[in-house]
Amino acid sequence: MSATIRFQVVGEAFKKKAVAVPNCTERPSEYFAKYVFNRQKMYQYLPAKVFEKMCDVIDNGTKLDLATADAVAAGMKKWAMELGVTHTTHWFQPLTEGTAEKHDGLVEHDGKGGMVEEFTGKNLVQQEPDASSFPSGGIRSTFEARGYSAWDPASPVFVVDDTLMIPTVFISYTGEALDYKAPLKKSIAAVDKAATAVAQYFYPEVTKVIANLGWEQEYFLVDESLYAARPDLVMTGRTLMGHDSAKNQQMDDHYFGSIPMRVAAFMKDLEIQALELGIPCKTRHNEVAPNQFELAPIFEEMNLAIDHNMLLIELMRRVARKHGFRCLLHEKPFAGINGSGKHNNWSLATNTGVLLHGPGKTPLDNLRFITFIVETLMGVYRHNGLLKASIISATNAHRLGANEAPPAIISSFLGKQLSDLLEKLDECDEDDLLNLAGKQVVELDIPQIPELMLDNTDRNRTSPFAFTGNRFEFRAVGSQANCAASMIVLNSAVAEALTDFKERVDTLIAQGMEPMKAILKQVRQDIKTCRPIHFDGNGYSEEWRIEAEKRGLDVESSAPLMLDAYLRPTTIEMFAKTHVFTEAELEARTEIKQETYIKKIQIEARIFGDLCLNHIIPVATRYQSQLIDNVHKVKEIFPAETATKVSANNLQLIQRISEHSSFITENVERLIEARRVANRIEDVRQKAIAYHDTVAPLIESIRYHVDQLELIVDDELWPLPKYREMLFIR
Ligand code: ADP
Ligand code: MG
Repeated sequence: MSATIRFQVVGEAFKKKAVAVPNCTERPSEYFAKYVFNRQKMYQYLPAKVFEKMCDVIDNGTKLDLATADAVAAGMKKWAMELGVTHTTHWFQPLTEGTAEKHDGLVEHDGKGGMVEEFTGKNLVQQEPDASSFPSGGIRSTFEARGYSAWDPASPVFVVDDTLMIPTVFISYTGEALDYKAPLKKSIAAVDKAATAVAQYFYPEVTKVIANLGWEQEYFLVDESLYAARPDLVMTGRTLMGHDSAKNQQMDDHYFGSIPMRVAAFMKDLEIQALELGIPCKTRHNEVAPNQFELAPIFEEMNLAIDHNMLLIELMRRVARKHGFRCLLHEKPFAGINGSGKHNNWSLATNTGVLLHGPGKTPLDNLRFITFIVETLMGVYRHNGLLKASIISATNAHRLGANEAPPAIISSFLGKQLSDLLEKLDECDEDDLLNLAGKQVVELDIPQIPELMLDNTDRNRTSPFAFTGNRFEFRAVGSQANCAASMIVLNSAVAEALTDFKERVDTLIAQGMEPMKAILKQVRQDIKTCRPIHFDGNGYSEEWRIEAEKRGLDVESSAPLMLDAYLRPTTIEMFAKTHVFTEAELEARTEIKQETYIKKIQIEARIFGDLCLNHIIPVATRYQSQLIDNVHKVKEIFPAETATKVSANNLQLIQRISEHSSFITENVERLIEARRVANRIEDVRQKAIAYHDTVAPLIESIRYHVDQLELIVDDELWPLPKYREMLFIR
């Protein structure tokens, strides 16, 4: 792109006006879930018997027979055709970053020379999409080539445009999971089983424990025309070069600031469409970095919450384009300012109440609260390295450990009240439990402002796993990640801890100990065991890294090495006990993660090298020639001594351009060579390590010199939109 075009592009971007959002006179309560075949629609479109059967399938996990499936499909077809649907697809979450769909028309030959629309129970329940081009980590070569997708009745079907979307799991013919949903559902079942058994100590009427998730999705918006002029953004989702803008987030004026008009129009449009698809959008605001925003829904049952997050991501991308934006979900699109995460608010609730909400009115409630807090911490403590592995990726690695996101060490923040409570538990007896916790009423000495109920926690933004009153907030998850990867680990780890706890308590009870005493005894022991995971201090400090290492926490900072946690004996055992993953599935998943890591850095290195050699060096050389030309001309018209003085500055610039340019050219050669060497390595793990150790650091070191050139070279010549142009939506 020539500089003149760059100016036009930037100018156009700044002139853009907000796109009008169709004036929606309906209230959200009226259009919520308009395009979802939820219970309400089932009631309307299914025969009573079929409706009852479906409720049983959804609520109690009973198996769906083909006759019922046929009846459901008939009702669905009627509803969908009223909405103009012509196609259906199974919608699943393969081990890539997004979702997958393959649309089939409803049309079939009617045998009389015409066509009919047809949709049967079999179409609804199972499909066999060709699995061969999805990542499988060797599962297909070891087992069976074909894969199939199977309907997940717990997540309602929905309509997008002309297509009926059917949420499904995606598995190989021999039963190995090829997606996120299948193991997620197993982990939800595992934590349900384990937590229900423990909850029954306290409340015998409990029959089910539900894992809830409320995600907070951060994202950036950039103007579409500027995006198109940045090949690095287009290819990798992040800017591989670009000097800091003089002003970025240092004034803290974007966070919670008034939302720019174009963005507000985008958000409104997005939320209407999301609500129509049953996504319960609730919160929107400007985030810390310029052009960074957040959307959070009301929390939901986890399986549904994750489908909704994946659907929302698709929707964000589409709606952004309608408004002349691109939605960036990369964890670190711009260096030097905050990146994007996706806080995962996780909690457990019974069919009769909540489990992590404390404190209660009775000693029993308090002991229940403490038990579930402590056993959650036990799971996180035992598998802290694995939890970190579950969120690491080539892209999220840019965010972790920087002073904006959680550090690359998993620890848990509990806040003062809860920390004190756990400390004191050592000495107290059952009755004291009543008084230890309790909402603190704070009187504010401000006229007309009522008393506030304080959460049982204060806030610590540096903690990756913080207790926030009635839930834990896992903050290390990347903005573009599928939440399932980390939630599978968390659910399973907590399930294992609770099951282990119950075995120990039951042993004491069998020996004649009173149940509550047995529980208290085991809880006290576990508080001691998992103490190393508890840290309320500053997670960004170097002292914490040293201290964490002493405590035996995982402090590995290299992404490929973090992934080793997936194949540790403790991991394999935990997933086997909870029936979530077999060892073969774990091996496959690890290999996919390693391969994805390699490919991401490989693509970055290629596009970066191209940009350096085809965009940056030619422009730097051209500007340098102009300077040299000027030096010669100055010599022609001035006496020698004056000429040297007049050209001093230019001579210095010529020199600096030479230095930066030769560094770039030489090191791009080294970068290409490092890639060549790494590519020859057969072993996937070793290859990922080579990419991490040799390729990735070269990109960073060359980038410094490109960014220096950006400061020197005439703005009119510079080929790429700059940070200051991309980061401020007008
Ligand atoms: P903050 O940014 O202050 O952490 P937000 O309001 O942006 O909070 O998001 C909090 C998220 O946590 C929302 O999705 C909310 O529905 C969810 N949440 C609240 N209570 C629970 C709970 N008990 N379990 C799971 N998620 C919860
Ligand atoms: Mg928030």
